[in-house]
Amino acid sequence: MPYIIAEPCIEAKNGACVEVCPVDCIHTTPGEAQHYIDPDICIECEQCAFVCPVEAIFLDKELPEQWLGYVDKNAKFFRRNKEALMPVPIDQAMRMVQAAHTKAAELGIAVSAAVVDEGGRLIALGKMDKAPPMSVDIATHKAYTAASFQMPTNELAGMASQSWFQSLLISSQGRIMASGGGLPILNGVQVVGAIGVSGASEDHE
Ligand code: SF4
Ligand code: SF4
Repeated sequence: MPYIIAEPCIEAKNGACVEVCPVDCIHTTPGEAQHYIDPDICIECEQCAFVCPVEAIFLDKELPEQWLGYVDKNAKFFRRNKEALMPVPIDQAMRMVQAAHTKAAELGIAVSAAVVDEGGRLIALGKMDKAPPMSVDIATHKAYTAASFQMPTNELAGMASQSWFQSLLISSQGRIMASGGGLPILNGVQVVGAIGVSGASEDHE
């Protein structure tokens, strides 16, 4: 359920929403009449809606009927302009999980490791024999968080005390995690997925 930018943006198009988006998912191009939100990346934090001077931003399920077409209009902008990058291939994702297990064994710990695509969808998951049962979900959530915010999860600590982040923690039902152990996976400068590790205090390592 991403947020959507609708027709009123055309009146102002002042970019105020771009400044506050924590995951950098609002874009436009010089020829476009308005800004658009990338539905694959939006984490539904609502910050953009608070600052829009013309009330152009709505949660998709709350869009006024006359602007329902803007769901597709926002998505189409990114289909046109995003480079067609493949997410992390399955064999590479499995090797990453295995590499995390190998490193954990060297450190004398047992972890679960998960690799997701750029939208936070699971590609590969592996739990070492002695890893805590809950590490499976936590590793997956860390990977989801790193993909959504496009940054290492240990760098989210600075945002964790802000009220919008607290709301997000609740509304995400635990999927957003601000503890270390999640890293985005880059192809050049574009995020193509993320890895999350859980099971010990050395998760980030
Ligand atoms: S709801 Fe949050 S994540 Fe989504 S576009 Fe607005 S500011 Fe960005
Ligand atoms: S803040 Fe509102 S008017 Fe300004 S660019 Fe964003 S959606 Fe458009």
